[in-house]
Order: sequence, then structure tokens, then C-alpha cells
Amino acid sequence: MITTLAGGVGAARFLEGLTRVAKEDISIIVNTGDDIELYGLHISPDIDIVIYTLAGRVDGEKGWGIKGDTFHCLGGLQKYGYETWFMLGDKDLATHIHRTILLRKGLKLSEITDRERIALGIKANIIPMTDDKVETILMTEKGEIHFQEYMVKSKTQEKVLQIKLKGVEKARPAPGVIDSIKKASKIIICPSNPIVSIGTILSIQEVRESLNETKAKIIGISPVIAGKTVKGPADKLMSSLGMEVSAYGVAKLYSDFLDAFVIDLVDENLKERIESLGVKVFVTDTIMRGLKEKVELARFTLEATGV
Ligand code: GDP
Repeated sequence: MITTLAGGVGAARFLEGLTRVAKEDISIIVNTGDDIELYGLHISPDIDIVIYTLAGRVDGEKGWGIKGDTFHCLGGLQKYGYETWFMLGDKDLATHIHRTILLRKGLKLSEITDRERIALGIKANIIPMTDDKVETILMTEKGEIHFQEYMVKSKTQEKVLQIKLKGVEKARPAPGVIDSIKKASKIIICPSNPIVSIGTILSIQEVRESLNETKAKIIGISPVIAGKTVKGPADKLMSSLGMEVSAYGVAKLYSDFLDAFVIDLVDENLKERIESLGVKVFVTDTIMRGLKEKVELARFTLEATGV
């Protein structure tokens, strides 16, 4: 079994390639720290991005939401005076309504996610990191805000002073998380935000411990290329927290359990420094422009885990 740790867009693009080339079963452990409740509905953005992408439903241009979706319901809510900064499409809302109904019936997020991926014909196992509530709260100069408010409402304008993962100390891994880390032959840390996606999953103590204990080879792909992210605020967040914004900075965050790291051609000069962390480095083109590059990066990463 190949087990992966995933955030949203970067991970989903990589997984589109991986699911096409992997011969083994795949388990995807997904961040839920940026889940949010809006209009009484439970939204799990990273789970939905991964599921929509693997089901071929994602809006490829944006990397999230459903292709061809409309926003009539939000328009209606706006007329009643609701805030509508989080772009929930009409088709997308069906997912959130379904999830919320099942949560109210007492099902766990992991059970609901499994039903969702089966309903959409996805073979890979998709597991939320936890069934417990973990909330990514950013401390900014203007006070505390939810990660989605920072990311979507204020378009990452605020200066972030600190990040708080509310509830993480008590959060237990969802059923299947630890097992899929222990039983994997290979573990892949997807190119995702190392602070608020992968970092959040790693903040669940048992997850980090089992990554340190597993016999599986663990390889990551850098989401930071030439000191910048391809998209999203990981670079800004790393710099606010005083980290080096580079593939080296990311490798350092994972170095206690990482065996190998895939970095981009333009970062080849960082190879020696990263290898001084005890992590073997592989260099290739890591920008996933289309399906061909996604498949090639997945194949390269799998081959690298054999070394
Ligand atoms: P976000 O930061 O909240 O949007 O969280 P995600 O976990 O979705 O992470 C996005 C990460 O994916 C960013 O750090 C991007 O740099 C990375 N990413 C997106 N597309 C690519 C790509 O084509 N190649 C690589 N190497 N990274 C990518």
C-alpha cells in the first residue's frame, strides 16, 4: 500500500498522477484543520478538492470547486444579508448538505468521506486526519481569524504573527490513519502547504510518532520552488514564522522522519544542504502544468522511493 499525506490543490494534482501510475492500493490522509462551518453546513475544503479532482469533477482552472458550477444559492443568501466570501457553488453545496445531514445523524467524518468517495467512484481510500474538531486560527495584527477568512476573505493580506491549531492536543487520528502509515510500503508527503496542511496533520502526535516508527520509505515533494509557492500562502506563512522559504526550509520541517525529498531543477543548488539533514535528494521538473507532468512526477517519485 502507498500512503500519502495531503492538503488541497497541490496534493490533488499530484494524486491525479499517482492514481494513474501506482500499482499498489493508495491511502490518502487529508488535512481537516481548515474545515469551517458556514450557513450551518460543515465544509471540508481539502477533502473536497481531493475527491472532486480524483472524480474528474474539479474546476481545473481554479483547482477547487466543481467545473461548470453556478452560484445562484449564494446570490440568494447575499440578498438576505449573509456574507458570501466563501465561494460555494450550487453543485458543491450538495456535498456540504449531504455531509452535514450525516454528521447530524451521528456518523463520523471518516465514514462520510468514505461514502462520498465510493459514491463518486474513487478507488483510493480517502481518510480525514481526524474525526475530531481541529481549527486553524491565525493570530494577526488585527486579532484572531480562521484560516479560511485569511485565505479567502482577506486574500492573505494580514501579517500572521502565530498559528494556533485549536483542539489538536486532544485530536485522535481517524480510524485507518495509523494503520495505513504502519502498513505502507511507501509514504509520500504531497506538495502541500507545509505549515497549515501537512504541518497540521503532523501536529497530531500519534501521526508524527508513527511516521518516525514505520518501516516504510518516506519521500516528500517540495511545494516551494525557487523560494516561492506555486500557489497559496505557504511562502508568506513560513517567512512570518521565521523559517527559510525554500525546499531546504520545508525538508527541515520533515527531517525527523523523511528518507528522501524531490526538489525542482531550479533548486538543484540546495541538494547538498538538504542531504546534510540526512535526507536523500532527487531533482526533477516538479511543476505540474498538465496531466503529463503529474504522471511523470508521480512515476519519478515512486522510482525514487526504491533507492
Ligand atoms: P494552501 O497553501 O492552503 O493552498 O494549501 P495546499 O495544501 O493546497 O498547498 C498548496 C501547495 O501546493 C503550495 O505550497 C504550492 O506551491 C503547491 N503546489 C501547487 N501546484 C504545484 C505544482 O505544480 N508543483 C509543486 N511542486 N507544488 C505545487
